[in-house]
Amino acid sequence: MDDLDAVLDAARTRYADNRPNSKALFARARSVIPGGSTRAVLDMNPFPTRMASAKRATIIDVDGHQYLDLLGDFTAGLFGHDPGPVGEAVTATLAKGWSFGAGHENEVRLAELVADRFASIEQVRFANSGSEATMLAVTLARHTTRRSKVMAFHGGYHGAFLYMGPAGEGLRAPFDYVLCRFNDLEEVTARFAEHGADIACVIVEPLMGSAGCIPAQPGFLAGLRELCDRHGSLLILDEVMTSRMAYGGAQERLGVRPDLTTLGKYLSGGMNSGAFGGSAAVMSAFDASRGGSVAHGGTFNNNVVSMAAGVTALELVLTRELLDELFDRGERLRARIESILTASPTPLSITGWGSMMNFQATKAVIHSPADLAGVDLRWRELLVFELFEAGYYLAPRGFVALSIEVTEQHLDRFLADLAGIVERMGQIPMPR
Ligand code: PMP
Repeated sequence: MDDLDAVLDAARTRYADNRPNSKALFARARSVIPGGSTRAVLDMNPFPTRMASAKRATIIDVDGHQYLDLLGDFTAGLFGHDPGPVGEAVTATLAKGWSFGAGHENEVRLAELVADRFASIEQVRFANSGSEATMLAVTLARHTTRRSKVMAFHGGYHGAFLYMGPAGEGLRAPFDYVLCRFNDLEEVTARFAEHGADIACVIVEPLMGSAGCIPAQPGFLAGLRELCDRHGSLLILDEVMTSRMAYGGAQERLGVRPDLTTLGKYLSGGMNSGAFGGSAAVMSAFDASRGGSVAHGGTFNNNVVSMAAGVTALELVLTRELLDELFDRGERLRARIESILTASPTPLSITGWGSMMNFQATKAVIHSPADLAGVDLRWRELLVFELFEAGYYLAPRGFVALSIEVTEQHLDRFLADLAGIVERMGQIPMPR
């Protein structure tokens, strides 16, 4: 046991001692929910903090601690916790009744709004989650191309059934994968040379979100686009998280035109939803009048709450200006965090793009999840405990996604506290 272990142990004990109610709920949860959690991403040693309520940028746990919510529900919480117009739309919708078992106007309106925003989307279908959206997009690509192989990237997370990390194997959809290293166009080119005629699609995120906010390097997505064109494969841009980066999504900011785009998270104002879309030609598989024969069902695909919330979110809240402002706020925040961490001897850094970022327990350059192999994660774990203690909520893995309720003033306070924490961590002797 070295100094870092001792400090971490003390932090863990303090965390547990301060959260008796979360601890008790964890004990109850473990007997009826395996692992005590129904969402792997929230797992935390010794137990996760459970929340009781939230308002605007503040979230309050079951033990009464208040935090500035820097997690933003892994990007789904883009709107923060101010009910605002989205809340009003939900209430008004519920007053009119639900479970119609029928189509309705808001699904049409939401589809129009999505098609207006995303240059590559002419037609869209709705689903219940990002996981469904990505599964549907990949299956559609395999059906359309009559090919079997799916190219994806090591460590990529495209939902419960398309997680390309080691822990994803158990639930991974049994497709024939060609896995490459993210940002390694040379490897992708070589694999296309081998398998190109069988590759139905490439599924990729513009910024690997769950894998640690690792941005695509300039030219990488354009290279994928070019290889897909050359080999007749479809390019699926998984924008479940990154579509917040601009009015027309990350694809607009980066100038890349995918064949299929997947959406989710914030799309329905924070209510559950997913969507996938592309050109009318590629989506025609679902259109019997255009020769399509694919049936895509889903009881809750067009549920009135998500559709109404989505319409209001896109029509009234998420303007071009607001999304650009949020992107810039994130860029500024990351730059300021970087300057604090660079000046410290502690092996911490930050990766990200726009309003999404992730603390890393290394100062090495990170271009793919492989660059994170072997880092001493204890540093980041300690940082997360310290931030919780100082009143900041972020993901156990150090992930931050800004909501529109987080202001510059909040961030100034955060940066001052972060600087103090990092200063203290800098006193811990380096493990040998
Ligand atoms: N794709 C990406 C890029 C994601 O980040 C996620 C969720 N983290 C999903 C798909 C799956 O979305 P959901 O959790 O709504 O199923």
